[in-house]
Amino acid sequence: MNLVKRIFDFRGAPVLGAAFVALFIAEGRRQLRKRKQPRLQRMVINSIVAIPAFTLLRFLFLPVMVKLAMKNRQLQWGLNYQYAAHPLIKGMVAFLIMDYTNYLWHVLNHKVPVLWRFHVVHHCDPDLDVTTAIRFHFGELIGSVFYRGAFVFLSGATALQVLLYEILFEGATQFHHSNWKLPYTLEKGLNKIIVTPRMHGIHHSVIRQETDSNYSVIFSFWDRLHNTVRLNVPQDKIVTGVPSYSNPDELTIGYLLKLPFTKIRKWEAINEVTDEHQTNREKNKLAF
Ligand SMILES: [Zn+2]
Repeated sequence: MNLVKRIFDFRGAPVLGAAFVALFIAEGRRQLRKRKQPRLQRMVINSIVAIPAFTLLRFLFLPVMVKLAMKNRQLQWGLNYQYAAHPLIKGMVAFLIMDYTNYLWHVLNHKVPVLWRFHVVHHCDPDLDVTTAIRFHFGELIGSVFYRGAFVFLSGATALQVLLYEILFEGATQFHHSNWKLPYTLEKGLNKIIVTPRMHGIHHSVIRQETDSNYSVIFSFWDRLHNTVRLNVPQDKIVTGVPSYSNPDELTIGYLLKLPFTKIRKWEAINEVTDEHQTNREKNKLAF
């Protein structure tokens, strides 16, 4: 049986499915930010937008990554094949490289216009919850095959490491998009290491300065390293979405799928960045 089936289909997918349901229940019980749309409507829109992306993930992205990792093993190319160390150390090195390069990929998705065309479909979600974690345009996934494939090759990650990272990546994405209000002190502690819902909520703000922060996916320290961290915005002050795509009636499933191929609207500046909006000037302090 091939590795994608064995690891992703039979182990990763059921775990991710269970995590999705658990987060959906948790965010229903302890809601972090106010909602604009009914949950069921959001589930339908975001799930249908996700179908082509998920199909490509399973039948293109994952098989390509696994093939590249196996080819790398034959050729002994890539960083991890160039030195001797315990497999766990090599696994951590591969994991950190994949997570760091995903931080950079996310920055590129915001800064490079052709990539933003696709990423805007994810960001124009008027609310932010676990269903936003699957709302990606399939075009964004096609771009990531080339980018992430290159780093699988350069890092020398094994096929198993690539698949395990991908499962953790998807799980972390579900967690930090969720609208689940964690106890503040717990989240503050967790956030020192991983990206949490309050941190990522700020990245989905309609205020440009706030969207241009918190790009990390699993580990939160990449944002600290690059000084792109911003934690001082209280969640009840955040308006989620993209200002120029803020009419929910316009954002139908059909429109979202064709959006990247239309003329992309400029980000309308919103002058709301006041001292009152951000609780204090210390960007590194997580606001409630
Ligand atoms: Zn983003």
